[in-house]
Amino acid sequence: MPDPLLRLTEFSAAEARRALDSREIAAVELAEAHLQRIDHFGGELGVYLHVMRETALAQAAAADRRLAAGDALPLTGIPIALKDVLCTIDAPTTAGSRILEGFRPPYDATVVRRLREQGAVFLGKANTDEFAMGSSNENSAFKPVRNPWRTDRVPGGSSGGPAAAVAAGLAVVSLGSDTGGSIRQPAGFCGVVGLKPTYGRVSRLGLMAFASSLDQIGPFARTVEDAAITLQAIAGHDPQDSTSSREAVPDYRSALTGEISGMKIGVADEYTVEGMEPGVADAVNRAIERLRSLGAELVTVNLPHTEYALPTYYITAPAEASANLARYDGVKYGLAVEAPTLRETYERTRGEGFGAEVKRRIMLGTYALSSGYYDAYYVKAQKVRTLIKRDFDEAWSKVDAIVAPTSPTVAFPLGARTDDPYQMYLADVFTIPANMAGIPGVAIPCGFSDGLPVSLQILGPAFAEATILRIGDAYERSETWAARRPNLEHALAASQD
Ligand code: GLN
Repeated sequence: MPDPLLRLTEFSAAEARRALDSREIAAVELAEAHLQRIDHFGGELGVYLHVMRETALAQAAAADRRLAAGDALPLTGIPIALKDVLCTIDAPTTAGSRILEGFRPPYDATVVRRLREQGAVFLGKANTDEFAMGSSNENSAFKPVRNPWRTDRVPGGSSGGPAAAVAAGLAVVSLGSDTGGSIRQPAGFCGVVGLKPTYGRVSRLGLMAFASSLDQIGPFARTVEDAAITLQAIAGHDPQDSTSSREAVPDYRSALTGEISGMKIGVADEYTVEGMEPGVADAVNRAIERLRSLGAELVTVNLPHTEYALPTYYITAPAEASANLARYDGVKYGLAVEAPTLRETYERTRGEGFGAEVKRRIMLGTYALSSGYYDAYYVKAQKVRTLIKRDFDEAWSKVDAIVAPTSPTVAFPLGARTDDPYQMYLADVFTIPANMAGIPGVAIPCGFSDGLPVSLQILGPAFAEATILRIGDAYERSETWAARRPNLEHALAASQD
């Protein structure tokens, strides 16, 4: 007998839409199945920082009324997880930090508001590295997240919670943020689809800022189609975010034709590094060959400044973070450690409220911005950033998209890199260039190595989300990876041996 609850938590958003519209299932039933599964597995996996049970059930009941009235939209009644850097008026938003423990924002992030207007169901606030700084979710001040495929492994980061939620059937889709790879890399480690849109495609209003010139919000999903549906709901100009683009939002789903013959797909030598696992290289090479057999033409491109992306990112991102995080001073938000003077209040609040990685970034960033070093570090990094962008611009004159691995390794063991920040930073070596250039990238499951998911990254020109989703969807249709799900009972039992 198939477990009926399991079936309800296996639906893609598109499948759930059909089942809801045909009244085969109710939104309340779908929400309850997810909440029950969260009760059962959520704690051990560490996926949620806050479960929004009451909100979810009220939204699901409202979705059922909307369905009865015949005005359902694509995400009406669909259970969603939100990374806890997205402001929600009816739930705490902590950015994974003690400094914001218990903080309740006075407004919704624009993406949250848009999903609410669609009638989506919010299951909860998903775990994250503190202020989205990290590649393993181990910098969360509250608890780590375990990889649903093997619970002694990290889920990737910083959006470890949203990625693991979708992989484990604890949400149908989720939203994360990607500053240097934090959607694509955890999507890769958890075997789901993760899309970082073009800088400016999605409003950042109400996203707790890490590095403002790099941050973008995007979806996690079990299929490319679901990623397209979710992007459709959140993309578009926001008058309250001056960096959001006025570029028209195309119909992403209609781009998923399954047809890629004649497309030119770039392959770059720069996307092989020392320390790349053979199992990852093999799976990615097979996926690239598959794209060729689907009719794409493979073209070699050169991206000579790729090796400078990681060092320039670790100047730019900490510099912007040091400015953005100055607002957490014990006066305006969250934690306040009282002290005899205002200055000591600042020092003690920030000393106790921020974790080690956040402090490391604030120190690095403050140094890079200080007088005398500003030109040598920050300005220099911006110049190199232009060169990285130019490499891509050059490539787009020859190809429609570029393919590469998402990460050089599969998910590594919990604790393996926590004492070595440089090793941790290397997990994003293939994802950071897209952030530096402002272009979109999607991570697509493309096989397994050692029982852990491997991921193919597809990069495209600015605002070419439809192109990269189309390639990803064509690949997904030609394979069976998207149908494979981790067996949680098995993974959790194995971790107890
Ligand atoms: N891992 C990278 C960092 O620590 C990227 C983080 C992100 O994309 N939010 O900064």
